[in-house]
Amino acid sequence: MAPAPSLYVHVPFCASRCSYCDFHSEACGPSALADRSEAWLRAIEIHLTALDRRFGHAGFNTVYVGGGTPSWLPRDVLRRALSAIGAAATSAGSSPAEWSVEANPEDVDGDFLSMLNDSGVDRLSVGVQSLEDAARMTAGRRGDAGDTKDRLEAIARGWGHGWSADLIFGLPGQTTLGMASDVSFISGLGAGHVSLYELTIEAGTPLCVAAETGSVKLPDQDERADLYDAAAETLRSDGFARYEVSNWTRPGNECIHNEVYWDMGDWLALGPSGVGNITAGRGEFLRLENSRDDGTYALDPSGSVNEYAIAGKDAAFECLMTALRTTKGLDLKRFGARFGVDPQEAFGRLHESFPALVRLESGKWIATDRGLDTLNVPLVAALSVADGYFGGSAGENGAERA
Ligand code: SF4
Repeated sequence: MAPAPSLYVHVPFCASRCSYCDFHSEACGPSALADRSEAWLRAIEIHLTALDRRFGHAGFNTVYVGGGTPSWLPRDVLRRALSAIGAAATSAGSSPAEWSVEANPEDVDGDFLSMLNDSGVDRLSVGVQSLEDAARMTAGRRGDAGDTKDRLEAIARGWGHGWSADLIFGLPGQTTLGMASDVSFISGLGAGHVSLYELTIEAGTPLCVAAETGSVKLPDQDERADLYDAAAETLRSDGFARYEVSNWTRPGNECIHNEVYWDMGDWLALGPSGVGNITAGRGEFLRLENSRDDGTYALDPSGSVNEYAIAGKDAAFECLMTALRTTKGLDLKRFGARFGVDPQEAFGRLHESFPALVRLESGKWIATDRGLDTLNVPLVAALSVADGYFGGSAGENGAERA
């Protein structure tokens, strides 16, 4: 029997906006948040019931509440949201293999941790980004480094489950010494998982404008590489292994929810801008994109969903892309069974064309460490072979808008 789908829940509110961020979220002060969050809660409850009726899921494989800043929700709204999600997740008598909630350190206290624990949450994903004040300031993060460290120590003391920290490298003001020290601090507190993202400059963000006008100087490519190396060396020496392009784990602390995405499994999504994916047949998927407009979503959550099929080359290539991001790699035989095509015919013999980037091991294509940093090279070649194999362009082979 296919596993139950996973569930992603998007919280579209933050206390303030970080300078680099283009996620779907809005800065919302406490008084506006009181009404807005109630409307959000009503909408996700209605949507949850509608998804249950339509897909008849037996609980959820994994749950991830992200955003935005879930920890910024009024406590009572968060408690009721977790209660509704928990009831649906355990409706079949089973419980999710993993239930994560994202939190910003500034919002975390003992009551918050107890509420999560009592609700069944067993993984915390903490947005740290940097523990250097200069970098935090240009990033527009709440709280200074000292306060953030205090909160992280409180998490390490008071949270009895696994937790992960998000870090960014490439922020103006970061130093290699600071980067290594940030990783050491988090690792020393017992985090089992670290997501290490490279700063991307999104058009129109305040940081993009500041960089364009010269009021902020971004680290150049060599400086970014040095920052990454400082973090990676410290992670390795502290027992972490890189298991996805941007994700590192101590043994047994992999994020199961994200592994569902990377395997192109089944998941449903609640909340504005959430995106779900459900297997619809051999090599075919139904993509469900919730409206990015909070008001539209709140008025009619199910009616706001844009649904379309992903099939043919689009589906196969997306699966290749996400699998190669991980050190589990792409199982060639399983891929053949899922999509009805031989990946070596559909994409070429990648391990022979790019031996330094992709190796063939136990019937799987696995990106080397260098390959994880330059995945676009084999992927561009694979796409070109796929164009000939499947025929036509991406739009002719799938992604037909319903
Ligand atoms: S807290 Fe997270 S979602 Fe909110 S603005 Fe900052 S980076 Fe974006």
